[in-house]
Amino acid sequence: NLSDRLERSFKILKGEGQITEINVAETLKDVRRALLDADVNFKVAKTFTDSVKQKAMGMNVLTAVKPGQLLVKVVHDELADLMGGDTAELKLEGRPAVILMSGLQGSGKTTFSGKLANLLKNKKNRKPLLVACDVYRPAAIAQLKVVGEQIGVPVYSEPDSKDVVAIAEGAVREAKAKGYDVVIVDTAGRLAVDEEMMIEISNLKNSLHPDETLFVVDSMTGQDAVNTAKEFNDRLDFDGVVLTKLDGDTRGGAALSIRTVVTKPIKFVGTGEKMEAIDVFHPARMADRILGMGDIVSLVERAQEQFDEEEAKRLQKKIQKNKFDFNDFLGQIEQIKKMGNLKDLASMIPGVGKAIKDVDIDDNAFKGIEAIIKSMTPKERTSPEILNTSRRQRIAKGSGTNIQEVNKLIKQFDQTRKMMKTITGNQMAGMMSRMKG
Ligand code: GDP
Ligand code: MG
Repeated sequence: NLSDRLERSFKILKGEGQITEINVAETLKDVRRALLDADVNFKVAKTFTDSVKQKAMGMNVLTAVKPGQLLVKVVHDELADLMGGDTAELKLEGRPAVILMSGLQGSGKTTFSGKLANLLKNKKNRKPLLVACDVYRPAAIAQLKVVGEQIGVPVYSEPDSKDVVAIAEGAVREAKAKGYDVVIVDTAGRLAVDEEMMIEISNLKNSLHPDETLFVVDSMTGQDAVNTAKEFNDRLDFDGVVLTKLDGDTRGGAALSIRTVVTKPIKFVGTGEKMEAIDVFHPARMADRILGMGDIVSLVERAQEQFDEEEAKRLQKKIQKNKFDFNDFLGQIEQIKKMGNLKDLASMIPGVGKAIKDVDIDDNAFKGIEAIIKSMTPKERTSPEILNTSRRQRIAKGSGTNIQEVNKLIKQFDQTRKMMKTITGNQMAGMMSRMKG
C-alpha cells in the first residue's frame, strides 16, 4: 500500500537527518498518484501534496523514526486535517430542531433520514418525526413509511398536496403539538442538478430555517460528487455532508475532494442499507482508507486489464501438466512489461510486495532474459531438457551473454516451473520479477 511505498521511497534517505526538497519530490509524486487513484480531484491532490511538502520540508528526523515513517505520518495527519480533523456534531437547538435533507435522487436521502432518526432516538434520547416531502413519486411516501415502521418513528405526510413548504410547516406544527423534538425532512431529488429542484429545496430552507441542512451524496459517484456538492452548496449553503455507500469498494477520495472544494464538514457516513449502518465521520479513519487502498486498487485493475483470463486458464493447465515452457515464460514477461513500471507494480502486489521489497528491479531487468530465450530454437524453448552444454554455449554467444547467465536462467526457469504449480494469476507477475534476481 501507499505507506509501504513511501517507506521504500525513503530508503535512500536512511542516515540523512532531514527531509529535503530532492528526497521529498519523488515520494510526493507517488502520493499524488495514489490520491488520483483514490478518486481525489486533480486540483485537490496537487494542493494537498504542495501543502505536505511545505510541512515536511526541513522537518528534523528523530533518530528513532525513519524519514519514511515521518512522511507517512505527515501525509496521514494532513489528510485527516483537510477532512476536518475532528468529528463534527449536529447542532440541534430548535424545539423542534429541523433537519433538511438535500441531494440527488438515489443518493440515499430517504435511507439516511431513517438511519439518523433511529440514531437520535436510540442514542440521543430524542423524539424524531419524519416528513415526506418527496411528493412527485407516490412510492416515495410509501418508502419513507416502511422505513419509519422499521425503526418505530412516525411519518408525517399529506398525500394530496404538492406544496412541500406547506407540508413541512404542517409537520413542524404537528411536532409542537405532539412533543416531537426533531423534525427530519426528506425531499425529492433529480437525476441531475435541475433548476426546479433547486428552487424547491431553497424555498424549503428559507421558510423552515433548519438547524441543519445536510447534503447527501453517494460516495461511489467519484469525481461527479464534487461538482454536485459545489452546485448544491452555492444554492443552499448547507451545513454538512453525508457520504453514503461507503460500504462498497469506493476509495473514499470523494470525501477529501468535497471537503476541500466546499469547505463544509462531512458529518456522517452511510455504510450499508440497514438502519444501523450509519457512523459519524472520522477523518483519521478516512485518511487510513485513502492511504491504504488507492494504489492497490489501481494495481489490481491494471493487472486485470492485462491478464487475460483465458490466457491465465491456458497457462494454468500447462503448469499443471508441467508443460510450461520458455515461450510461455517469454509471453509472461511481455505481459508484465505491458503493465507498466515494474518497480511500482511488482512491489504493489499483495503478499508479494513485502517479499521483494528489497530487490532492485528496473524495466531493463528482463532484457538479458529475453535475449537468451530468443536465441533458443523452437524445440529448445518447448523442451528445455535438451539444453546440453554445446547448446548453452551457442545460446550464450547468440544472445551476447555468457554461459553463466544462460545456466542461471535455465536453473531459475526449472525452479519457477516447480513453484508455479502452486500459484496463479496475478501472483505470476510477482514471481517473474523475482526471477531476475
Ligand atoms: P434517495 O433517492 O436519495 O432517497 O435514495 P434512497 O434512500 O432511496 O437510496 C437509494 C438506494 O441506495 C437504495 O437502494 C438504498 O438502499 C441504497 N443505499 C442508501 N444508503 C446506502 C448505503 O450507505 N450503503 C448501501 N450499500 N446502499 C445504500
Ligand atoms: Mg428518497
